[in-house]
Amino acid sequence: MRALLVEDYAPLRETVAQALAEAGFAVDSAAEGGEGLWYAQSGAYDAIVLDIGLPGRDGLSILRTLRKSGQTTPVLLLTARDTVADRVAGLDAGADDYLIKPFALEELLARVRALVRRKYEATDPVLHVRDVEIDTVRKQVRRGGRTIELTAREYALLEFLALRAGQVVSRTDIWEHLYDFHASAESNVVDVYVGYLRRKLEESGGTRLIHTRRGLGYVLE
Ligand code: CA
Repeated sequence: MRALLVEDYAPLRETVAQALAEAGFAVDSAAEGGEGLWYAQSGAYDAIVLDIGLPGRDGLSILRTLRKSGQTTPVLLLTARDTVADRVAGLDAGADDYLIKPFALEELLARVRALVRRKYEATDPVLHVRDVEIDTVRKQVRRGGRTIELTAREYALLEFLALRAGQVVSRTDIWEHLYDFHASAESNVVDVYVGYLRRKLEESGGTRLIHTRRGLGYVLE
């Protein structure tokens, strides 16, 4: 999953970016409104954490611009003031949720996870694909009752495919959701990780779940 964080206060931005990264997100962050809008319009984000009070362009204006252009990426607004008018303005501008500063990091992460689930129409935080069980809160994977140890990158790949189970997902789409803007990697990195993941999922003789659709991408089913 890939998240965008737009927050001008550096200590908070760094803390939240780190927490999101530790929770398995590829994270891009921006400190200024114009830059934030540019990222939001250009990237393939699963969630955007957007501060309202920003230099350059405020969060509500960014949000309105995104929604006007048809962008449906879930947005969690951060607001410094707890007034009804602020919350109403945020929700009316197209925010999916909001959080009042100061907040606990665990709450922010839980809300972001909920937004991502909603985006992919997954109501249960535990995803099931055949005999594979993916706990998106604990980041644990089991197959046929056996725990499968995955690296953070392998887990992120599996979760992304599982949220789109039954759909063909292109390599570009996978790449965009697993890597941040500044990442550089070999062009075949997605295939390499699919290879690792298949090996682990099939270790004890399980059937193949990740299928290659030649020229199109991969599908988990
Ligand atoms: Ca601010």
